[in-house]
This record gives sequence, structure tokens and C-alpha cells, in this order.
Amino acid sequence: MKVAVFSTEPYDRQFLEAANAELGHPHELVYLDTRLESHTAALAAGFPAVCIFVNDDGSAETLKTLAAGGTQLVALRCTGYNNIDLQAAQDVGITVARVAVYSPYSVAEHVVGLIQLLNRKLHRAYNRVRDDNFALNGLLGFDLHGRTVGIVGTGKIGLILAQIMTGFGCEVLGYDLYPNPQFEAIGTARYVPLPELLERSDIISLHCPLTHDTHHLINAQTIAQMKRGVMLINTSRGQLVDTKAAIEGIKSGQIGYLGIDVYEQEANLFFRDLSDTVIQDDTFQLLQSFPNVAITAHQAFFTREALNDIARTTIANVNDFEAHRPLANEVRLPD
Ligand code: NAD
Repeated sequence: MKVAVFSTEPYDRQFLEAANAELGHPHELVYLDTRLESHTAALAAGFPAVCIFVNDDGSAETLKTLAAGGTQLVALRCTGYNNIDLQAAQDVGITVARVAVYSPYSVAEHVVGLIQLLNRKLHRAYNRVRDDNFALNGLLGFDLHGRTVGIVGTGKIGLILAQIMTGFGCEVLGYDLYPNPQFEAIGTARYVPLPELLERSDIISLHCPLTHDTHHLINAQTIAQMKRGVMLINTSRGQLVDTKAAIEGIKSGQIGYLGIDVYEQEANLFFRDLSDTVIQDDTFQLLQSFPNVAITAHQAFFTREALNDIARTTIANVNDFEAHRPLANEVRLPD
């Protein structure tokens, strides 16, 4: 099957080529550097399948253009599908598939990296030592042991993070719309209502999907409910956090540390080398200027294991679609 693969980087090609050779028929994968947007959708004319990533646009307008060009399948190379208008996909007869499961360790372990980077100021320590500055002033951290970690969303990634933080000797609190018995089987992990999690946690990490309900879940009101000096980590989706409210929280000292792998307006920035350009996003530049903010550019998933899982499932999704088999990873509108 001919597949137009949008937003591709060399690593995507490497892992997709390997999976296609091993599992595909093989499919004819045509790689495009460009993002899928309404004005680039015409590039996929004549391709029955397109393959896209987190910041590609699956709005009604884009899907209509894809359908007009003969596209029947949109295969996401990610778990979240907040960028797809599922009603519009159904209306124009496009099937949507995703990678429902890939190494949750990739993201959970990156969270620990962000926590310890912020706590022990590893970024500053690294730069100081390279500059022959061996002073410790300003690098003071805290023991994770004995701290309370609140996990919002206890699905695949949240569960692994609960296990890891239990290993550090943390008390783990969870909040989920759909509690999972596996969570409370981890050490002393316990579900609590969201306000209690916000009030009691020293570290809060977000692991729920972006939905209508979770948009700006972290806002001025919920930030005010948190412990003063809280550490907030977001590796899920940028729009879970009202960035302006987070900046106010940092300036007032209510938020003591902010670690983000995702950002509300990341589609204009991430996955590209913009080092020779003047960044026009003042909010992002302000965030970058704070010493207690650590930003990574949507790389939490970026491990060999995860890329391998993503590529293999993507090819399997295309295989199933081509063979008219039921798609295990199809994303449908809720009933
Ligand atoms: P998952 O579906 O296994 O778990 C999500 C959990 O959130 C579920 O238990 C669900 O019940 C819960 N939930 C849904 N709505 C909620 C709400 N309103 N409040 C609280 N909990 C709610 O997903 P996962 O694999 O653990 O991934 C979590 C999120 O991480 C994804 O949605 C995606 O946005 C993000 N993600 C980011 C990266 C990255 O590289 N930064 C990689 C993979 C996934």
C-alpha cells in the first residue's frame, strides 16, 4: 500500500524501514519532511494511507482534502489522538488508527530525569564543572525519599511512574477518572480526590490524555490549591497546563519547579532546529529564562525500544487495513 509519511525525521525512516522490511508486504513508504496541515494535505493525493505524528493537523478541513485525494487511512505514530477530528474522519470515511501501546518506560523514565534535573540542578552543575567552577552554592537539592508524588492519570505511564517513585521511597498518590486496581497494588500507592492530591503532593506529574475535560486542568485555581514550592511535571500534552497561569505561579513562588516535555504552542517550535532563527514566542522565551524551569522538546518517548514499538505497530496497522482485518488500534468516536 502507498503511504505518505508526514513529519518524518531520519530516525522515523530508520525504524519504519526496518519494520516495513520485516512485517510489511512491504508497503511503499514515501517520506515527507513537511507537517500535515490543511495546505499540505494535497501532497497525499493518490495515497490510500497517510502516517502522521503528534503535531500534525487532523482537522476537518485537512481530512476533507485527504479524503478527496483518495486517502482512507490515517495511521498515527503516537498514542494521543487529540489532533484528529474524529467526527470529521467518520463523516468523510477515513479510518484512524494509533499506536495504543509502546514502551511506557520511555516516558516514565524521562519524568524521573526531569525531576532530578530540577531537584539537583544537574544542568547547572554540568555547565559549572565544564567552566572549572566547582562551587556548590545554588545547587542544593532535596531527598526524594519521604516526599509525596501525585500522579494524575494512572494508565500505562502513570503506573510505571508509581512503581519507580515507590522505589525511591516516595509516598504515591493517584487521581484518575477510571481508577485501576493495579495502581493501589503498588506499594502504598493510594487514590485520592484531585483536590487532595494537589494539596498534599510535593511533586505532581500529569499522565492523562488531552480531552475537552483536561484542557487547562492546571490553571490559576488548581495551582493555588497546590503546596507552595511544588514541582510540576508535564510530559503529556501542553494544553493540559495554562502556561500563563504557570508563569504567574513561578513568579510568585507557588510553583517551585516546572519540568515540561510538552508545551501549548509546541507545534510552531518542536522537532525542528531553530537555532539560527529569532523565536517569536515570547511566552516560551520567558519560560526558558527561569532557572527553575526545565524544558525538553517532546522527547520523552524517544528511546530505541519505543521507536521500535511505534514503527512495528504502525506497519501492523497498515497491514490490517490493507487486508480488511479488524483494526485492533482503531480510534473511534465514543458511543
Ligand atoms: P493511558 O491511556 O494508558 O492512560 C491515561 C489515563 O488517564 C487513563 O487511566 C485514563 O483513565 C486517565 N484519564 C482520562 N481522563 C482523565 C481525567 N480527566 N482525569 C484524570 N485521569 C484521566 O495513556 P498513557 O500511555 O499512560 O499516556 C498518557 C499520555 O501521555 C497520553 O495521552 C499522551 O498525551 C502522553 N504521551 C506523551 C509522550 C511524550 O513523548 N511526551 C509519549 C507518550 C504519551
